[in-house]
Amino acid sequence: MHNLMQDWQMNVSAIIDHAARYHPDRPVRGRAAEGHMVSSTYAEIRTRALKCAQALRRLGIQPGDVVGVMAWNTPRHMEVWYGVPGAGAALHTLNPRLFAEQMTYVITHAKDRIVMVDADLVPVIEAIADKLAGVETYIVLTDRAHMPDTTLNALCYEELIAAEDGLDGWTEVDERSACGICYTSGTTGNPKGVVYTHRSNVIHALSSATPDSLGIGSADVVMPVVPLFHANGWSIGYTAPMVGASLVMPGRDMTPGALYELLETGVTLTAAVPTVWLMLLQHMQADTSRRFSTLKRVVIGGSSCPRAVIEAFQNVYGVQVLHAWGMTEMSPLGTVCSFKPEVLAKDASGRLDVQETVGHPPFTIDLRITDDDGAELAWDGTAQGKLWAKGPAVVEQYLYADTSATDADGWFDTGDVATIDRNGYVRITDRSKDVIKSGGEWISSIDLENAAVAHPEVQEAAAIGVPHPKWDERPILVVVPVPGKSPEKDSILAQVAQKFAKWQVPDDVVFMDEIPHTATGKISKLELRKKLHAQGYT
Ligand code: ADP
Repeated sequence: MHNLMQDWQMNVSAIIDHAARYHPDRPVRGRAAEGHMVSSTYAEIRTRALKCAQALRRLGIQPGDVVGVMAWNTPRHMEVWYGVPGAGAALHTLNPRLFAEQMTYVITHAKDRIVMVDADLVPVIEAIADKLAGVETYIVLTDRAHMPDTTLNALCYEELIAAEDGLDGWTEVDERSACGICYTSGTTGNPKGVVYTHRSNVIHALSSATPDSLGIGSADVVMPVVPLFHANGWSIGYTAPMVGASLVMPGRDMTPGALYELLETGVTLTAAVPTVWLMLLQHMQADTSRRFSTLKRVVIGGSSCPRAVIEAFQNVYGVQVLHAWGMTEMSPLGTVCSFKPEVLAKDASGRLDVQETVGHPPFTIDLRITDDDGAELAWDGTAQGKLWAKGPAVVEQYLYADTSATDADGWFDTGDVATIDRNGYVRITDRSKDVIKSGGEWISSIDLENAAVAHPEVQEAAAIGVPHPKWDERPILVVVPVPGKSPEKDSILAQVAQKFAKWQVPDDVVFMDEIPHTATGKISKLELRKKLHAQGYT
């Protein structure tokens, strides 16, 4: 006897159906791409998403097609988020910060037939439009009054959906069909496309909503500062409606003042990369009377979160930090640092130590660490090795790749190096390609960087291994000082030495006004190495 239960397809349209039916009036508000404040509800978003799907079908979109979307986090983006897969197509998120060459590559490689774009981002597309032979139609995500003058032969989104009644329903596709596409930044070579299915997105949203993961519920007001175009928007576009949480979409204004203003409109949980929070904390500290009146939790991930940021949020502002790790290939959440009883039993400083790990995986993610020969390492919190992942929302193969992205046993190499402890808490020590090996021993560049930014006059730090005749490699630190400060090399190294053995302390500190970043705001070690090379360091 088997399969006597209903074969209920796990499609993302079911998420917005559920939100509209059981949380119809839950607000989805925020800044429109045009800059003014707007307010919608899940019921309204669903109706407009149905119209969007209908309009896309009328333009010829069929199951299996790809629609590119370059847009800020806005309520309108949420309509499109469901409208595109609701037409049976895959929504290809486009990061407007990609270099023109990479943008051309991803749009062409994914075979986008339609590109939908916020009005202010139209110039980004105009600049490469002559190379986008495969794109048949452009849609500007605005109304007639805000349509920009453009060389694109573009349609107006509001006019398109005004012509539809939204009564045709969703295009039915199998739950294993493509739902979304997100390219990894590709630090070397071309970006690689990760194709999420309806099923993988639903499963991932279910697991990320659980209490020990993001723990979001209908009483939450969630502000995703992380863009929907970065790593599947950390799933928040699915998780929040699934549980009926209200959404606050920040639009394009990412300045700390604008974010603070929105956080103070009732937000209980927010999420972004560490640099966003570093800037917000500086803004808070500039006026000590500023407080968060409703914010309870902040999800920080995408790169390692410095201890000082965790301490400031928790000790000064009473906001719990959820340090998270993941990647585009994992839909993206892999682990979240929530407290298991073993951690709750520790004192405050012990708990903070644990928060420097990225936490533990929810059900549906399996992890392991191996040495260079592929042998599995012990979960003792000390042995460090390659981190591998498995699960129903982990990549199997990149778009149009010839080979699998996993090994013969189905494990995906995350490219990260980590330790895991007995309770499954993972500490990311490095990217494999950034590991610094000195005298045969590894030195964690992430730990060095976090130790350096604990110095009050250091804004940003990057640790790099440079060739050394005797030790193979030695670490050096690249430091961007806090504006207006000129820290001494020795005081920075002394700060680092508090946490490291003598042989691990970097040999030199190089000051720079700016460290190069990737399109997703991470330190680009590749570019940094080039810069250092030009200065004679490597
Ligand atoms: P991109 O490189 O395109 O920005 P991802 O967001 O997929 O794409 O990057 C994933 C990588 O980011 C991970 O493999 C890991 O190296 C790094 N990362 C993410 N979260 C953390 C974290 N909390 N601590 C350390 N590294 C992290």
